[in-house]
Amino acid sequence: MALYVEKYGGTSVGSVERIQAVAQKVAARTQAGDQMVVVVSAMSGETNRLLCLANELHEAPPARELDVLLSTGEQVTIALLCMAINQIGVEARSYTGSQVKILTDNVHGKARIVDIDASPIQQDLDKGRVAVVAGFQGVDAENNITTLGRGGSDTTAVALAAAIKADECRIYTDVDGVYTADPRVVPKAKRLERISFEEMLELASLGAKVLQIRSVEFASKYNVPLRVLSSFEDGPGTLIIDEEKIVEQPLISGITASKDEAKVTVRAVPDKPGIAHRILGVISDAHINVDMIIQNISDEGLTDFTFTVGGADMAKSIALLQPLAKELGAADVVADDDIAKISVVGIGMRSHEGIATNMFKALSEKGINIQMISTSEIKISVTVRKKHTDLAVSTLHDAFELDK
Ligand code: ASP
Ligand code: MG
Repeated sequence: MALYVEKYGGTSVGSVERIQAVAQKVAARTQAGDQMVVVVSAMSGETNRLLCLANELHEAPPARELDVLLSTGEQVTIALLCMAINQIGVEARSYTGSQVKILTDNVHGKARIVDIDASPIQQDLDKGRVAVVAGFQGVDAENNITTLGRGGSDTTAVALAAAIKADECRIYTDVDGVYTADPRVVPKAKRLERISFEEMLELASLGAKVLQIRSVEFASKYNVPLRVLSSFEDGPGTLIIDEEKIVEQPLISGITASKDEAKVTVRAVPDKPGIAHRILGVISDAHINVDMIIQNISDEGLTDFTFTVGGADMAKSIALLQPLAKELGAADVVADDDIAKISVVGIGMRSHEGIATNMFKALSEKGINIQMISTSEIKISVTVRKKHTDLAVSTLHDAFELDK
């Protein structure tokens, strides 16, 4: 007998038939003796539909009311799924976030879970019932309904799994696992059997949009084994676990690309203490995330200072930096969003040299020019022209033999 938290996303509960299919799976496992907590998203398209309604009535819908509205999507699915499970002859009970209760801070629209009191759920499990919990929602200390940010049901599931010490948290979605690269770009890409939390965090933040990043952080912090698998076909999916539990650590686990990047350069800025702080200070004060940072060796006391931001933040970054550049006596501020960031990720890098050399060699053989390079313990990223994105990914996939 095992205790599982299973999460089904919007497409997995997108119609009556699909809800019935989920109910069949959950009921079968319960009848086989497992204890089941199920977290569901709103039916596919529902959260967006509700958002549109809100936007028709208010140009910037009040955050508190928006959360009341958006949380209804999940409330529909928990009730429907419970009905379907009951129809099969297995007892199931539904819970909204506030009934559980999932206590969050009061940041509407992107609340963070502070505490979970899972005792009502525990009672159901003890009685052999399935507990079905609404994802994406919680309640703050003043009893206001909150939501956890788009894709937040993943985080609900992991947090619940941590709270009830589940054996595994399973995220059922429309892909059958995490791949070595985007299979649409690299048809030879392979599903990973297992991957460490740390690698998944790097891959998730780089655009492998399988899981909400926060859910992986949560799983890593509380050491919850997390499995991503398809709700449409049977298979083992990808297990995301602590690095120490991975016996044969591959050199490289995956290659990702992100096209939503821009690089910003402050040119010929006097090379004095405090420059990096001043430049990045105005950027971070505006809550703009900075990723790669490069400062050239100075030439005659002047240096170029370059960093990357999300594509959508390029114009704002330029506007913020122009007055500062003047003040600092820099030449000018230039920016370019015709770039893509390509990264290779793998915990095996820690104990192997030569990965960067291989990467640069493979790219150069295809005539792909590298603009910026940054490295961390388990990741090497480069920026290239956007048009080279797919070629760079498939070249590196071949170079590191990830299809083997
Ligand atoms: N229904 C919410 C969304 O569409 C939460 C989720 O699906 O995880 O973002
Ligand atoms: Mg999702």
